[in-house]
Amino acid sequence: MKILMLSSELAPFAKTGGLGDAVASLGKTLAGAGHDVRIVLPRYGTAPLATENGWTPHPHPVAVHLSPRETLFCRVWTAPFEGTAARVHLVEYNAHFGSPSIYTTFPADAYRFAFLTVAALDFCLQTGWIPGIVHAHDWPAALAPVVLNTTRRATPIGRAATLFTIHNLQHQGLAPKDILRYLHLPGWLDTADNLECLGGINLMKGAIYHATKLTTVSPTYAREIQTPAHGFGLDPVLRHRSTDLSGILNGMDTTSWNPETDAHLPARFSAADLSGKAVCKAALQRRLALRENPAVPLFGVVARLYDQKGLDLLATILPDLLARAHMQIVLLGKGEQWLEEQYLWLARSHPDKCAVRIGFDNALAHQIEAASDFFLMPSRFEPCGLNQMYSMRYGALPVAHATGGLADTVQDWMPPRTNADASAGATGTGVLFYDATAGALRNAIIRALQLYYDNAADFARLRRNAMARDFSWTRSAARYEGVYRDAIAARKGSVAADGGLVQ
Ligand code: ADP
Repeated sequence: MKILMLSSELAPFAKTGGLGDAVASLGKTLAGAGHDVRIVLPRYGTAPLATENGWTPHPHPVAVHLSPRETLFCRVWTAPFEGTAARVHLVEYNAHFGSPSIYTTFPADAYRFAFLTVAALDFCLQTGWIPGIVHAHDWPAALAPVVLNTTRRATPIGRAATLFTIHNLQHQGLAPKDILRYLHLPGWLDTADNLECLGGINLMKGAIYHATKLTTVSPTYAREIQTPAHGFGLDPVLRHRSTDLSGILNGMDTTSWNPETDAHLPARFSAADLSGKAVCKAALQRRLALRENPAVPLFGVVARLYDQKGLDLLATILPDLLARAHMQIVLLGKGEQWLEEQYLWLARSHPDKCAVRIGFDNALAHQIEAASDFFLMPSRFEPCGLNQMYSMRYGALPVAHATGGLADTVQDWMPPRTNADASAGATGTGVLFYDATAGALRNAIIRALQLYYDNAADFARLRRNAMARDFSWTRSAARYEGVYRDAIAARKGSVAADGGLVQ
């Protein structure tokens, strides 16, 4: 299949969270399976692109036909993607992407990514590489299905099927109505059954109506977003498309995140030999000036410090827990200033038990996963989540709210209930709690402490279970292939012999 992916993020070029990782791994896995994969994203900033990495500019400027009266020109750079057969195209247009920031301000971002979308589609048209499927990721790419159903419908790329993947429904891409004029889109899109929303334009709503198929990044999240509690106002639209919506769990990058080979760690380890994990724990305790003690359970957190992640709940209960319980906590994160300050204050109040680093630090994230006995994820909602997968692989048991991908990947600790069960041992890979409240989180941490201190055999068993879980991309990528095929078949069904839309 010829697969065009559109995304604002692609690790390692541009990443703020799981989106960049997911697009990179999916692209590489699909290319490895023999598909022709091209991934388009902006060239953020103006730093030179290293020719030794294979970057070559397209020989001609690419015309971006925003409207019959407005054609702009961008440059497109191409390189093989990290030694795979997939290709990356970076769209250079400094008026929109000259700043190194991936996301800037409202409403500029809507225009920046609208430009990217049209540039990507027009680049395909001008080079004659016509994808069978256009896979648009999250709101920045949400206009692709809309454009392919309207202004580009009668062109060769108008036959392409579209898949829109929701990585996070909270960010929907609200734009002024003028965005329709900017792309010369028809006025009928400005209705409640299309893109209109709260007096403006909602880009993600447009993709939900217009994409051939829809996916999100876990089966539980696919169900949750169809409810008012998690639908962020779009649940009626998602219920309307529910037969075309499925949940495919993200995999994780098992090469970068492998405790047996991880170059960021002071020592490597495996489920069969955990001695290196003890070295990692001691090294982190020393580095962060915590009390160096192999026996105290270490809880890790690596996250964006925003409402979604529920770390305000943790901050509420930590003063009491740290005062009473024999535990240590390490937090690495960046986000809301008030939350950063609260955690820095907690670290100052309990310097031997709580260490906080504000910032984005990939090496430290690896070291925290490796050193921790538990990994805290009290997310209010979590479309998929990668950190719980990393932590299981690194033998840090997730203590997580049973929502979205956390519910689909973490099994709650269940001690053996009968004598017959006892020989098989405890089941589970972590500790789950079922309400996003400070009280439920506190109880879960107390259960984790009981598991660690009072049920050492169960703890060891859960660690083995967790480290044996397979979260590689192979299975998920095969499910995407299936959805692409369904989408292509469905799109063909909607095109008349003359290429017109059957409706
Ligand atoms: P989200 O995409 O909502 O941020 P995920 O768990 O899916 O959450 O992915 C988060 C990714 O970003 C992981 O790879 C995680 O290690 C990384 N990450 C988040 N915050 C930081 C940080 N402060 N420093 C280093 N890595 C981080």
